[in-house]
Amino acid sequence: MSVPAALMQGIVVAAFGRQYLVRSDADEMLLCVPRGKKSEVACGDRVSFARTSANQGVIEHIEPRSTLYLRSAAYRQKLIAANATQIAIVVAAEPSFSEELICRLIVGAEEQRMKSLLVLNKSDLPATVSARARLACFAAAGHRVVEISALHDCSALLPVLHGETTVLVGQSGMGKSTLINGLVPDAEASTREISAFLDSGRHTTTHARIYRLDADSLLIDCPGLQEFGLHHLSRGEMEYGFVEFRPFLGKCRFNDCLHDVEPGCALIAARDAGLVAARRFELMRRIIAAERV
Ligand code: GDP
Ligand code: ZN
Repeated sequence: MSVPAALMQGIVVAAFGRQYLVRSDADEMLLCVPRGKKSEVACGDRVSFARTSANQGVIEHIEPRSTLYLRSAAYRQKLIAANATQIAIVVAAEPSFSEELICRLIVGAEEQRMKSLLVLNKSDLPATVSARARLACFAAAGHRVVEISALHDCSALLPVLHGETTVLVGQSGMGKSTLINGLVPDAEASTREISAFLDSGRHTTTHARIYRLDADSLLIDCPGLQEFGLHHLSRGEMEYGFVEFRPFLGKCRFNDCLHDVEPGCALIAARDAGLVAARRFELMRRIIAAERV
């Protein structure tokens, strides 16, 4: 009987379906699979694993997570990133972006007590004026909006990324890849390193991967998101994700107020008094209606 190998520790730096690239604390890369069919691992997870060959291993244990960013539909959920401190939502004037998707991304982050930052990219485009206006309700709610032109200069983002583990999210075409190449000097080299490690086309669907920005800052990139289901959240958790609504939550006359036609609704009163943006109120109602069928 073979003696079990000592467990090693590391961080999941890339997820490819059911396989995970783990960088050990000794700075070795190993392709690992989780023990057991059900266990789900996310990019950013700290794990203990057993080596099974020179560059392969089995994940035996996932360390407790400080946060877990995920999206969900009725019968499935997709883990995006573990242990992240904030999300950065990349948008641009062109192609057009969805305000509902932005709200969904933020609601998912707020439930995990992660901050949300909006990155308005392609600020060199004239249409940025109207994109900025569409983001005004998010800025008014308290979310930071940073404007950049990733093609030219990403440095305005560095102070807000420093010391954080940031999940980069956004619809495709917004300039996320351009941004990563601008922020991470060796991004392409590290992509080549991963491809060389995997050395075949079998793992091409990358779900998420980590870049080190500096000693204290990580970026977790995940492929373009066109939808972000919040099936795992209750109505109250979705309302809570609209941060400027919080002073009014729980103040309606009826505990189970749907903020629709009920008398004494504190949120409707806040909207009518101009204390919360009508647009945000409408987006909240639309998201809850879509998720709580
Ligand atoms: P991704 O799908 O989010 O990764 O987007 P890409 O990084 O591939 O960028 C999509 C397109 O937008 C490409 O043609 C980029 O050259 C362009 N793009 C990215 N950043 C900027 C920018 O700051 N200004 C302009 N004008 N175009 C940009
Ligand atoms: Zn109400």
